[in-house]
Amino acid sequence: MKIALIAHDKKKKDIVQFALAYQPILKKHELYATGTTGSRIQEATGLNIHRFQSGPLGGDQQIGAMIATNEMDIVIFFRDPLTAQPHEPDISALIRLSDVYEIPLATNMATAELLIHALERDELHWRNIIKDRREKDKL
Ligand code: PGA
Repeated sequence: MKIALIAHDKKKKDIVQFALAYQPILKKHELYATGTTGSRIQEATGLNIHRFQSGPLGGDQQIGAMIATNEMDIVIFFRDPLTAQPHEPDISALIRLSDVYEIPLATNMATAELLIHALERDELHWRNIIKDRREKDKL
């Protein structure tokens, strides 16, 4: 599965903790992240992560583009709901696209943990079925 990891500045420590705790699960998947989040996680865990631009410079939109082409399976996005972000429109667009394409999206640690456990139990297998179906529709 392809997993996107994003965290706003005040949530970066939390996503690093999350990645450390679930490293054995995460390492079995293809990981993507916005620029700074990706480097923090990489430094702390050594996980292999494809890093996009930093969020405010277009990283959220790059992840959104993967969602729109049905290439992203899970989004873990530790938002900071208490601080105004300069790229608020990009954040809303990413959340909106996740809903348009019904991509599992966790915006806080509690839901992220549920998702990661579901992933480990293979409960997100339906994503592969949907992907296969969409690929066939393209032919
Ligand atoms: P960053 O971007 O990982 O580059 O900090 C995250 C964001 O603020 O959207």
